[in-house]
Amino acid sequence: MPDVPKPISVDDYRARVGALVPATPVTLLPLDQCVGLVLGDDLVAPVSLPPFDNSAMDGYAVRSVDVADPVVELPVAEDIPAGRTDIVPLLPGTAHRIMTGAPVPPGADAIVKVEDTDGGVERVTVKASAAPGTHIRRTGEDVREGTTVLRAGTVLGSAQLGLAAAIGRAELPVHRPVRVLVLSTGSELVEPGGPLRPGQIYESNSVLLAAAVREIGGEATVLRFVPDDVRAFHDTIAGHVDKVDVLVTSGGVSAGAYEVVKDALTGQGVDFLRVAVQPGGPQGSGTFQGLPVVTLPGNPVSAALSYELFLRPALLAAMGHAVIHRPRVRARSAAELRSPSARRQYRRGRLEGDVVTPVGGPGSHLLAAFAASNCLIEVPEDVQVIAEGDLVNVLVLD
Ligand code: AMP
Ligand code: MG
Repeated sequence: MPDVPKPISVDDYRARVGALVPATPVTLLPLDQCVGLVLGDDLVAPVSLPPFDNSAMDGYAVRSVDVADPVVELPVAEDIPAGRTDIVPLLPGTAHRIMTGAPVPPGADAIVKVEDTDGGVERVTVKASAAPGTHIRRTGEDVREGTTVLRAGTVLGSAQLGLAAAIGRAELPVHRPVRVLVLSTGSELVEPGGPLRPGQIYESNSVLLAAAVREIGGEATVLRFVPDDVRAFHDTIAGHVDKVDVLVTSGGVSAGAYEVVKDALTGQGVDFLRVAVQPGGPQGSGTFQGLPVVTLPGNPVSAALSYELFLRPALLAAMGHAVIHRPRVRARSAAELRSPSARRQYRRGRLEGDVVTPVGGPGSHLLAAFAASNCLIEVPEDVQVIAEGDLVNVLVLD
């Protein structure tokens, strides 16, 4: 019997992969490339919002004392559409017609909305009084010039990007997307879209892995997958090694006769080992010619779960995210589950309320069941049976 080393725990292996992928540098990117990325520096407002007192309504700028006893009629001295930049002061006993967002003229202290008037152009009849400040949006009410509006570490969603634009920023300093090179291996693999011969299957891991990288804001380059040939493997990645942050392969790492990734990278800085997890036991990671490499097993659900458990947190951390793990909740299992001893099992499931229903069996080829699931059920190393109704740990995927 060969001496089989003890498998490494899920948590230890996650830490190992996490240490492999360095942080991406903070760079300035245009706002339309920043969604989902993490702000690299505090964002200070160079202007106030609103930048000037402006009208919250279409109506008339007045002095509140002039409309204290409606009904009153006032001459309309000026028309102020939004965007007018020459501001004429309001004289006592007059009104300026004003539109939403237009600057309130000096001398005016209230806006009467158009619905409370006859809408006159030369003269206006005002039918309601307006206390000082009515319908005026004050300078700096939202943001005061010089204040920090977003802290470094903020994940930039639509609201945050809208705010950045509102204070005049065209670009933001962000942790740039991590660049991932994705390479699938296997002589049986055929590109989707073409015919299949007996013994061949459509290649799916590179599509899944690249999409998973892009979902978290990373950049994925997919290389044409390679046959189980060491020379072809090296030829394919040559020329890409210094252009990406991490290489992710799938397939060719287990105990078979043609394990191309293992054969190509053993003794080259990449360690192949077993993780105490099901699915996804055979794994490899290390540094090849200075490039961090994570080699995932080939079965589609193994590849997907290995990415989920080991690589996704590493890529998120590299891009400056503080929250790198999926939300974890407790739920009742709707069915009995069986799990091997001494390995942590991740079963696919559907979480509805506080009940989780397993989807499909433990087989790592069951991609349709994975696609139909919205969570992972985590069965600890020391648990072999989960009875129906037992509380389990669930990782929420979406
Ligand atoms: P391997 O890890 O290379 O032994 O592959 C394990 C299983 O996953 C085999 O049934 C392969 O055909 C399948 N497989 C490997 N790579 C892929 C891939 N990129 N797309 C779909 N299936 C794959
Ligand atoms: Mg293979």
